Order: sequence, then structure tokens, then C-alpha cells
Amino acid sequence: MKEETPLVDELEKGPWPSYVKEIKRAAKKSKAAEDLLGVQELSFNDKVTHWKHGGIVGVTGYGGGVIGRYSDVPDKFPNVESFHTLRVNHPAGWFYNTKALRKICDVWEKHGSGLTNMHGSTGDIILLGTTTAHLQPCFNDLTEAGFDLGGSGSALRTPTACVGPARCEWTNINTLDMVQDLTMEFQDEIHRPRWPYKSKIKISGCPNDCVAAIARADLTIIGTWRDSLKIDQNGVKEYAKNGFDIKTLVVDKCPTNALEWDEKSKNLKLKPEDCVRCMHCINKMTKAIRPGDDKGATIMIGGKAPIVKGAMLSFVLVPFMKAEPPYTEIKELIRKIWDWWDENGRVRERVGELIERVGMRNFLKAVDLKPVPQMIKAPRTNPYVFF
Ligand code: SF4
Repeated sequence: MKEETPLVDELEKGPWPSYVKEIKRAAKKSKAAEDLLGVQELSFNDKVTHWKHGGIVGVTGYGGGVIGRYSDVPDKFPNVESFHTLRVNHPAGWFYNTKALRKICDVWEKHGSGLTNMHGSTGDIILLGTTTAHLQPCFNDLTEAGFDLGGSGSALRTPTACVGPARCEWTNINTLDMVQDLTMEFQDEIHRPRWPYKSKIKISGCPNDCVAAIARADLTIIGTWRDSLKIDQNGVKEYAKNGFDIKTLVVDKCPTNALEWDEKSKNLKLKPEDCVRCMHCINKMTKAIRPGDDKGATIMIGGKAPIVKGAMLSFVLVPFMKAEPPYTEIKELIRKIWDWWDENGRVRERVGELIERVGMRNFLKAVDLKPVPQMIKAPRTNPYVFF
């Protein structure tokens, strides 16, 4: 190694995987990866970052997808003088064949540091570290391989969905089809940042919410059902026969007391009007309880991580909407929400924060929705809308 990096080396210790180990592997082939370790060591010593924003970089026709990074110590570490990140739109459900993965890696070894992050928290493939001169040729090669850039800056960030029907029997909507469709529909919004701040769409096929859409997306789409969940009483009896404690583990844990257990007849009864479709009983008794047949989506709004205000969870906007191609109703609602937010939002204000600032009443009026009892900020308390 060119530089001694005792502080960075500390991060190789311990039982967990170490990114330092991986950067050192890459440094055998890549001068940029080698200098990256040096910059980090310097930052640890100086207790300040040595990356700075040095202007906007991008590729022709796109306003997003590339995040500019420059070092403020280029004399010391010339191979990371510029070290830009490319966000590449991941395939729905993160499915690749090895040929596609090799192709990405080949492109990235040719044009960048060889370091990748599979995947970033939004979901994209993150390609870490290239020079300004390599951006356009890299983008051209990625395009030829069938990949496109994802969103960054004040744009729609790359929409993400759980694996849905590809691997999971609980999904109530075709998350993979929907995320592909919405990604194609909103290409302009992904590639051309023009809003007050970022906006995210995440889709989970059921309320288990495996992509944490409620916590992370401004527009959260959760698969659900409108009719009653289905209980197979023979399946229930089988659980009871095997010693499974249905009363303690399922019935007593139902958040809305929607279940009743008759110990004598081993019968599990549901009060459908009280069920909030939380998935608990289904998760516990997968062989006896299933979602209903009338499937669709709950549309929620306002989730975000902290920045201007603290972290917020999405709350229900439309309790149930049919979600079938071409998803016209969902797309129209999303466009209305964006128009209102774009018109009224302050710089760096997410849609949930704007709703809090100007009030739910104004927001509902702007997007042509009537208040319904399910629009509550926190479950079963604190209604936004009084009747
Ligand atoms: Fe209760 Fe949740 Fe089961 Fe509905 S899905 S019955 S709310 S545990």
C-alpha cells in the first residue's frame, strides 16, 4: 500500500463484513481505490471530511443520476481528485442474472474505481468513484448494456418495490409490474430534477412492508384486501392439535380484538369490521389464515427520514384502491399530489412536511379527496379530520 492507514485498518476488525477489506481488494487493481483509503485515513486524523461539492456534473439530457464528489486534497491523492457516484436504476425486485452483473462490473472497471454498493438505501446500484471525463462514456456503455440511471437531487428517486409475486405468496398486488410501470411513466420526473426537494415511491405487496415503504417513502403503496381475511377452520384445528397456543400468541395479540377463540370447539372467529389487516394472525398461522380475495392497495403519504423536520411515517390517504394495469387512478393521484407540492412547497420541504404546515384540509381540497375516518396520523388516536 502507498500509505499506512492504521485508523482505517481498525474497521477491518470484528465479526462483521468490512468495507475496508473490500476497498483493499479493489486497490490491488485500482489506483482510485488505493487513494480512497488514504483520504479516509486523513479525514479520521483531521476529524473533518475531505470531500467537497465542486459543481454540477451529469450526462447529456439528464439532470440527475450522478452525484459530484471532489477531494479538497488533490495534490496528496490525485487519483480521487474527482470521485463521482453514478446511481443506476435497479431491476424490479433486484433480480439479475450473472451475465448482467458481469456486464455492469466490466463497464465499471473500465470507467470507474471498480467499487460498487449493491444496493444503496433507495435501491439503486451505486457505482462509486469516477472522473468527469468518464461519466458520459460510462453512461453510454451502461445504456448499451440495457441499464439506465436512477434519480438523485430534487427529483423522483428511483421507485422501489418488494419482490412481491416473484417469491412471496402474501402479496396482494403485482409489485414488480407496478414498479416497472411507474418507473417508465415517470421517466421525466426521475431524470429532470425540478421540485422543491426529493420525492420517493415505494411499494410493498402486503402490510408486512418488507421495503419499509411506510418509513421511507413520500408516496407509500401497500397491498391489502377489502373483504374479510379467510380462515380455514381445519387448519386452525391442526395448529391447536400440535400444541400451538392460539389464544396467547394470536388472539390476544390482535391489535383491535377482532378475533375470538372458542377453546371447546377449537373455532377461530373473526369480526371482519374490526380487522385492520395488520397481518399478525396471518404471519403466525400461515397454513390456516390467508388474506381476502378482493385485493388492491392502500395509498399512504408523507413518510421521510429526518432533515428539515424529524422522521415521519406515512399515513393513510386512500384506504383502498384497485391496483391493476395501467394503474391510471394511482398515477392521476400521484400527479395531483406532486403539482400541489411543487406549487406550494418550500425549498427542501417534503410533501408530508408541507401537509403539516398548511393543513390536511387544504391538501385534500387540492387533490380532490374527501376526508375519511381512516386518515389518521397515528393509529386509533389523534384524528386529522374531525367529523
Ligand atoms: Fe387482527 Fe391483524 Fe389478524 Fe386483522 S390481520 S384479525 S387486525 S391480527
